[in-house]
Amino acid sequence: MTAAANGPSVDARRVIADLRELERRTGGPGGARRVAWGAQWREARAFVGELLAEIGIEPERDAAGNVWAYLAGEAEPALGVGSHIDSVPGGGWLDGALGVMAGLGVLRGWAGAGAPPPRSLALVDFADEEGARFGRSLLGSSALSGSLDPDGLTDLRDAEGRSLVDALGENGIDPARMSEATARAAGIAAFLELHIEQGPVLEAEGLAVAAVRGCAGVERYRVGFSGQASHAGTTPMDARRDAGLAAAEAALSVERIAAEHGGVGTVGAVSLSPGIATAVAGEAQMVVDLRHPDAPELAAMLAATRAAADAAASERGCEWRSQPVWSIEPIPFDARLVEAATEASRRAGGRSEPLVSGALHDAAEVARVAPTAMMFCASARGLSHAPEEDTDEGDLVRAIEAFGELANGALSSDWPRT
Ligand SMILES: [Zn+2]
Repeated sequence: MTAAANGPSVDARRVIADLRELERRTGGPGGARRVAWGAQWREARAFVGELLAEIGIEPERDAAGNVWAYLAGEAEPALGVGSHIDSVPGGGWLDGALGVMAGLGVLRGWAGAGAPPPRSLALVDFADEEGARFGRSLLGSSALSGSLDPDGLTDLRDAEGRSLVDALGENGIDPARMSEATARAAGIAAFLELHIEQGPVLEAEGLAVAAVRGCAGVERYRVGFSGQASHAGTTPMDARRDAGLAAAEAALSVERIAAEHGGVGTVGAVSLSPGIATAVAGEAQMVVDLRHPDAPELAAMLAATRAAADAAASERGCEWRSQPVWSIEPIPFDARLVEAATEASRRAGGRSEPLVSGALHDAAEVARVAPTAMMFCASARGLSHAPEEDTDEGDLVRAIEAFGELANGALSSDWPRT
């Protein structure tokens, strides 16, 4: 075994071999098929169980369906490592799985080190991170953090009309008891997650790895415009109340506002009514998604978007209204761990400044209850949630090894409870 400065290094080639075997068992040409609560997901978890059995560890499952595997060390509480083994339908081989297998690699390294780690290790595979089937993302990790409202789950159904409550029941989970998973939080001193970037920044910079300083906040609104539907041939241009053009104007403003504030803004859905070639649109509906890592900037983006919608509507004699769809505040990670992750990234030849995650991850939920940070590994072409998702194998090796060093450093640090 090779030893890093502060503990055993992770066998990155073995981690990649485990990921390839997982892909062979639960993926294929159409992509990963590990949708939470289904047979392929259970098969993936059984494979993780086999790998843990090899190092003499029997996993436990909490009341929310998260799987935990502990390696006893010289101090408690444990350093948590992990991610999620579930995938979207037709997903990639690395999203979530990389963090679970790399975390398992950390446990494997210490299990074979001949001495216990300075602090216990807890590997966690969070249940239903993707929300792919029932639309509720971060399910297991939000049960851990206490932000899950079990009453909000009762109405959730999949595309076939089957309820989440039934799917939970098939997996031996009682929704009324899911909040008991919060008890595990006290057993976590700090938490680290390795994940693919799922975006193009690292690849464009020619870098393999980066620290992540937090997850961006999100404001998502449905915005409607009402004008007057009228004949496309007989209504003069200056006599129109075109709701479609008001929406188009507002959508272009979202792009400008995102650039001005250094955030991202998306109008990913637009519909016009009556939606025919021969009528001016009387109604337009769009969904605006605004993201920024800084709460005041996010609030300013939302205010500017409202002002732009108001101006676009009045310019064309239309009314407008908005309805909140979903929002989450920006979640900064622990400053000490982010600094340690940045150091680990630099040493691995990665990015010297942390990135912000525009996507949400389990780590964002864990950050509510324990010091947390993430590392990102480059994504080929920035693609994810697609069968084409991939990462150069050399980049994977660098990221997995850097993650192992970060974990070893965190194992020998004090994490006082606040
Ligand atoms: Zn993921």
